Amino acid sequence: MTFNCLTLFPEQFSGFMQTGLAARAVQAGLVRVELINFREHTTDRHRRVDDYPFSGGPGMLLMPQPLFDCFADLESRETGRVRRIYMSPAGKPFSQADARRLAAEYDTIDILCGRYEGVDQRVIDTFIDEEISIGDYVLTGGELPAMVLMDACMRLLPGFVGNDDSLRAESMSDGLLEYPQYTRPSNFRGQPVPEVLLSGDHARIEKWKHQQALLRTLERRPDLLAGRHLSREDQELIEKIKEAGT
Ligand code: SAM
Repeated sequence: MTFNCLTLFPEQFSGFMQTGLAARAVQAGLVRVELINFREHTTDRHRRVDDYPFSGGPGMLLMPQPLFDCFADLESRETGRVRRIYMSPAGKPFSQADARRLAAEYDTIDILCGRYEGVDQRVIDTFIDEEISIGDYVLTGGELPAMVLMDACMRLLPGFVGNDDSLRAESMSDGLLEYPQYTRPSNFRGQPVPEVLLSGDHARIEKWKHQQALLRTLERRPDLLAGRHLSREDQELIEKIKEAGT
């Protein structure tokens, strides 16, 4: 899978690209990341990439010419299934389902990282397939959001995470938050691990994990349960928890 990041600050990506699983995936050829400084595409002799917005207002906007030429250059050499994304606080909130969709459906993802007050709308109208927000807050640039999106997609690629089973139990993977987890020792400074986890009874352990995931989701993110099909057992458990709370 290839990610092309259009950015004015390629150096911001170095920590992400050079450490941990992302670095290994690049070395192994599972993922390719091209960092493209679109300032290289400016025709202005001062290499300007921003200008004042019409209608006044604060700040500067990324102007169309360098980005049009940068995207045109990419278009001329891209093949396969390509998706062009603009990271934007005004975009659709990013979710695990989006990460799954992008990782499964595209060979190449171009990510435009905005700066200043954002991007001239004509760039978005001409080249962008979707605008994605990583949350309801405003950052100074789209580089961190681009790394969030790449990380979430990359780790879903077969072979990226050493043990693909770990992905299955993760928060969001089945619409529930992950259950609490413990490692050795079984009793740490007076805090014991739940007895069931030491029982060796796999059926009981699986049931406990599911119930804990359900409980946690109900407490922290009840919105995730809305519209979800719940088994009769789950419904009864939720009713019991609600009754106990009232
Ligand atoms: N004026 C813009 C607005 O109100 O929507 C905010 C611009 S922001 C200061 C600069 C750039 O950071 C944006 O163009 C975008 O690429 C990126 N950015 C900031 N917050 C973001 C978020 N929550 N999700 C995705 N990208 C974000």
